[in-house]
Amino acid sequence: MKKKVLITDRFAQDSFLFLQQQSHFEVVRADSPQHLPLEHLVTANALIIRSRTIINEELLKKARQLQVIITCTSGFDHIDLDATQKWGVTVMHTPTANIESASQLTWGLVLSCVNNLHQAHKMVKAGEWRRDEITGIELTGRTYGVVGLGRIGTRVAEIAQAFGMNVVAYDPYAEDNNFERLKIPRLSYEEVLKTADIASFHVPKTLETEHMLNRSHFEYIHRGLVLINTSRGSVINENDLCEAIEKGWLRSVGLDVFEKEPLNRNSKLLTYPNVVLTPHIGANTEDAFFKASQVAANKLTGFFIDGSTSDTLPPRVPWYGAAPFKAE
Ligand code: NAD
Repeated sequence: MKKKVLITDRFAQDSFLFLQQQSHFEVVRADSPQHLPLEHLVTANALIIRSRTIINEELLKKARQLQVIITCTSGFDHIDLDATQKWGVTVMHTPTANIESASQLTWGLVLSCVNNLHQAHKMVKAGEWRRDEITGIELTGRTYGVVGLGRIGTRVAEIAQAFGMNVVAYDPYAEDNNFERLKIPRLSYEEVLKTADIASFHVPKTLETEHMLNRSHFEYIHRGLVLINTSRGSVINENDLCEAIEKGWLRSVGLDVFEKEPLNRNSKLLTYPNVVLTPHIGANTEDAFFKASQVAANKLTGFFIDGSTSDTLPPRVPWYGAAPFKAE
């Protein structure tokens, strides 16, 4: 009996063919990640998804044959893991596939912010050449603060060190050896925000990280901070951020993620010259896309051939136990 695999979102063609060539799979694709065809959902044994497919109780009630879900993402706040556990569905993710891409985008935003690349670009395109108005800062010798020293935070820290920066970090759950390997001082959250010239967030979406950067912190941040967020939009209170920008407390801000996506066309964030915005493209390199698709295809094959699992969800990490986030 063939296992039906429903792919709900973008998936690399090579990995699609890899699955299709296996005689024990029937592979079908959904036209839209949000609206899954009921005739396939009710008979699917496996779903391969990305973050645009929300997995909740309602969907699981329909998918009565479902054994496994693989999300080609590192984040998993689009999946109600209480519900998947209740319905006995195995869930796996691909957390290593986009470390490089997300770290690289973080650095793309940092470099745009510190060299004012976005403003320079706009000026030249407008046929203007006011060189004196575009100034930046050097990275060497300055302090980089990492909030969340996990997979991406650690890679971002390594790159900061390659620029000759002093890296400090806050992560209450990371093992000491994460800090020791790169000789990064383990600071409190307040200390990081007070000392960093540049700070970037690499935390998961949890109840604890929701609005973990808000007015109370902007009051004491290092004035002239360059702030970057490529993790989850819920981490920063956007109203409070706009207030801090208007008060001139931040040199510049780079954001790939927002409280509500897509970003509202009326958002004040669109109006500030010292803010660089990207549309949640941290995992959008060709390489990360191919890696995540193939890793997912391999996990699926292993699961049905010999029951093997890896990177299962919920993760066995202290922060998840402390304050999980429930997908809506
Ligand atoms: P990870 O699990 O490896 O690292 C997260 C780190 O955050 C862990 O070390 C954890 O201990 C720490 N943490 C948890 N709660 C914390 C808290 N309250 N305060 C400080 N630290 C805390 O995850 P990762 O793979 O490095 O991904 C980091 C984030 O980046 C996730 O939110 C993920 O969804 C997001 N991400 C975004 C994109 C994008 O397209 N922009 C791409 C990939 C990943």
